[in-house]
Amino acid sequence: MASYQIHEALNETYDPLTQVAALREAHRCLYCYDAPCMHACPTHIDIPGFIKKIATNNLLGSAQTILDANLLGATCSRVCPVQELCEGACVLNSTDEPIAIGRLQRYAMDHVYDRGVEVVKAAPSTGHRIAVIGSGPAGLSCAGELARRGHAVTVFEKRELPGGLSTYGIISLREPVEVALAEVKMIEKLGVRIQTGVELGVDIQLAELQQQFEMVVLSVGLGQTPLLGIPGEEHLFDGLEYVERSRVASEPLAVGKHVLVIGAGNTAIDCATIAQRLGADRVTIVYRRTSREMTAYPHEYEFAKNEGIEFRFLARPIETVVKDSQVTGLLCSQMKLGAPDASGRPSVEPVPGGEFLIPADQIVKAIGQQKPSLARTLNLETSGGYIAVDETFQTSIPGVFAIGDCIRSRGEASTVMAVQDGKMAAHALHARLTTSVSSGKGA
Ligand SMILES: Cc1cc2nc3c(=O)[nH]c(=O)nc-3n(C[C@H](O)[C@H](O)[C@H](O)COP(=O)(O)OP(=O)(O)OC[C@H]3O[C@@H](n4cnc5c(N)ncnc54)[C@H](O)[C@@H]3O)c2cc1C
Ligand code: SF4
Repeated sequence: MASYQIHEALNETYDPLTQVAALREAHRCLYCYDAPCMHACPTHIDIPGFIKKIATNNLLGSAQTILDANLLGATCSRVCPVQELCEGACVLNSTDEPIAIGRLQRYAMDHVYDRGVEVVKAAPSTGHRIAVIGSGPAGLSCAGELARRGHAVTVFEKRELPGGLSTYGIISLREPVEVALAEVKMIEKLGVRIQTGVELGVDIQLAELQQQFEMVVLSVGLGQTPLLGIPGEEHLFDGLEYVERSRVASEPLAVGKHVLVIGAGNTAIDCATIAQRLGADRVTIVYRRTSREMTAYPHEYEFAKNEGIEFRFLARPIETVVKDSQVTGLLCSQMKLGAPDASGRPSVEPVPGGEFLIPADQIVKAIGQQKPSLARTLNLETSGGYIAVDETFQTSIPGVFAIGDCIRSRGEASTVMAVQDGKMAAHALHARLTTSVSSGKGA
């Protein structure tokens, strides 16, 4: 049975805004016409509108404005890379600090969650039945938006807890588990049924779902960490599991003394931060290219350096060194940058004779996630390994739709993008259900 891990060292970075601080911040907003922050937010929340309501102490109205555009406003207020999105577009950047949009959004959302106020209501039942597979941000957003419109939605989730990566994968200092689960509850209160421990392809088959539901939405995310293909790989800690064990686990995470993290994306930074905060003496990120090619956001790289995390660039792992079943180090090849490869980034090639050992007692592999395997199982058309969809999110199987990370063949995978997919897919499904002649199944 999963239990939450509470580590003080991983408590939420930001305290909630006080009323005085929230009012002061809200009054700094210029309430721009055609505000650039709204365009930069993938869910296009009426940001000046919700901030204005905070300024006039109408927190319920403010939360309503946020939830009108984004049902997972509490999660997004914490996990969105605001520097790259809404706050990055704030006109005050040129003269002053941008408005703390994320923290104001959290202030309004916390107000309603702390008081258990039900802001969103479901419309009267339409009798239409839809199955959603996967309860991450994409699935929850889609299910909630459909329920809002009166449709009966059942979510099937293979894991013990719902919430997808918001529950299992986000570092606690950004979002506590309780926030993710409170949002799940809010979606359930809209009438959405969530069945956990049910895996499509194992416990239930697509054909059965097609019999029972008019439409099926796949929001299954991505897979496990891929293989590096080096000897001793079985001794590496999986990065996704590392984050998971720091927040939800039956047994707590044991952190090594000298931890190496392989990878250079945001997950690698999260794993390194967890190791550093939970007591490792030394944490080093190992990456085969340089800081310029890292996929982590620049602000995350700066954050990691401030945490005291070290970086070893131009180092490609070639073997995990193990003695008496205990990891003792990582053998690496010294690399140099070459001509740009197909991705446009400089290629890397080994420096002859440039092998070296980095001592370590724990090595974490955080090199991304595998493409969705369900695409192959269901024989769906793919695009670059991701599930291919048309502009209405329909896959190559009529009546089967896909959203979220499993279709994100281009652009940055993020929670807010998954939420927007869920919302847009719900709009498309609702239009089909209410404008076309029903298939007759369950209507
Ligand atoms: C370690 C990590 C940290 C991240 N940090 C951030 C961050 O700080 N900010 C940010 O914006 N984004 C972050 N992201 C990205 C963000 O979490 C994802 O983009 C987002 O969760 C995608 O939502 P989703 O619903 O598509 O997929 P997921 O959240 O992956 O949810 C998919 C769900 O489907 C379930 N499922 C899969 N297959 C089946 C099946 N066959 N049957 C039933 N259920 C199934 C899974 O168990 C899971 O619950 C992070 C990602 C990772 C890996
Ligand atoms: S959802 Fe994210 S990007 Fe949009 S306004 Fe809120 S914090 Fe900014």
